[in-house]
Amino acid sequence: MSEDARKIFRFAPSPNGYLHLGHAYSALLDFDLAQREGGRFLLRIEDIDQGRARPEFEAAIYEDLAWLGLSWEEPVRRQSEHLDDYAAALAELDALDLLYPCVCSRADIAGASGARDLDGAPLYPGTCRGKRLARAGANLRLDMAKAVALVGGEVSWFEHGKEIVAAPQEWGDVVLARKDIGTSYHIAVTIDDALQGVTDVVRGRDLYEATRIHRLLQELLGLPAPAYRHHALVLDEDGRKLAKSRLSKPLRDLRAEGATPADVRAMLDLP
Ligand SMILES: [Zn+2]
Repeated sequence: MSEDARKIFRFAPSPNGYLHLGHAYSALLDFDLAQREGGRFLLRIEDIDQGRARPEFEAAIYEDLAWLGLSWEEPVRRQSEHLDDYAAALAELDALDLLYPCVCSRADIAGASGARDLDGAPLYPGTCRGKRLARAGANLRLDMAKAVALVGGEVSWFEHGKEIVAAPQEWGDVVLARKDIGTSYHIAVTIDDALQGVTDVVRGRDLYEATRIHRLLQELLGLPAPAYRHHALVLDEDGRKLAKSRLSKPLRDLRAEGATPADVRAMLDLP
């Protein structure tokens, strides 16, 4: 198989804490699929939020993943080193007149709207749209209605091989450039997947609904659409996401207690 024909997978953790079983599940599932399908496997460090990212957590990611038996191509892409790429994408959207500054606080938005977005957060009602506010110190939001009109109303993608059609407007005017970091998760993940040639996105079900935003951005920016496979999240005994759980134990603690990578796979019901 030629290098060009090979699928490209990626695992993209944020160095904001130690990896736990939920991360291990996602990473192993992703890596195993890449192996089975003869694909390449990339690791990406999602550290745009420099207020939360820490070098010791990044070092721990490499150590924990290598211990689990994963290997990845070098160099690893670090988002904090590619802010220019995200700025260029935002400039393209700006040239289409799709961005506007918003100075609303979370409390403003919570008070202004009873509606909810697809994550269950208060839906932004568009208060600042059309106001031509100054950009300094403001978030930049996507004019969703205008963006959706440009791509013909809906977006679609292949989820486990089945076509999904979805309406991005249910998210409202999402923030694409946070005032503190100048970009956003949605922009960074979309641009990185395109620049790295990612063909297969394997990630948790918690990002399933955000996929319609990523597909919209890909359409607006003329980027290819990867295939998506969102997997179930690992839950604790009370059915809560591990990340939110008091019981989530870092992989390194399990390792210190004598667990082996095979034990981790068994705990996650992975072959
Ligand atoms: Zn606003």
